Amino acid sequence: MTFKEISIDSPIQEKVVWAENCYQAMKAQLLGDEKIADLLIRYREAALVSHGEMDRTGVVNECKDCEEREGGSCCGEGLEDRYNGILLLINLLLDRKLPEQRHDTLSCYFLGQGGCLLLARHVICVNYICSKITEKFDPTKLAMLREKEGIELEILFLLHERVKEVRAKL
Ligand code: SF4
Ligand code: SF4
Repeated sequence: MTFKEISIDSPIQEKVVWAENCYQAMKAQLLGDEKIADLLIRYREAALVSHGEMDRTGVVNECKDCEEREGGSCCGEGLEDRYNGILLLINLLLDRKLPEQRHDTLSCYFLGQGGCLLLARHVICVNYICSKITEKFDPTKLAMLREKEGIELEILFLLHERVKEVRAKL
């Protein structure tokens, strides 16, 4: 099945439309693939574990506070351009809804009122921690968080490659 070609340089709205079209046309085949189904389960678990670790370390509260008091979200406009169509398609396979428009003109396309709207996030989003956090938090706790995020990213890589492979054959 072919849709209008997109590349990493395509506007984010085109990537979103591409992902939605793929999802509508191929979700049964993609979700029916055993490897994809297994990786989706493993990814959900790994993301839950690393998000829980973020909460436990206090990073979630620190970022919430930063956003509320300093308007300091690091999710700036343009970061959405790092996302490709497959990663957006994976978010749809994980039951996330992709926004039809940007919520805040100065912020990333995927930043909603309550934070990031995506579950499967780009490595740059997962790995980013500002100096406020690295200076304030115990390095051992941050290392544990990194470990959990590493597992999340590894599974996401495998999922990305499998979805790309299966989709290309449909
Ligand atoms: S990572 Fe740093 S800059 Fe970004 S929201 Fe958290 S505290 Fe603020
Ligand atoms: S974490 Fe989400 S909202 Fe923030 S830059 Fe990444 S995709 Fe955008």
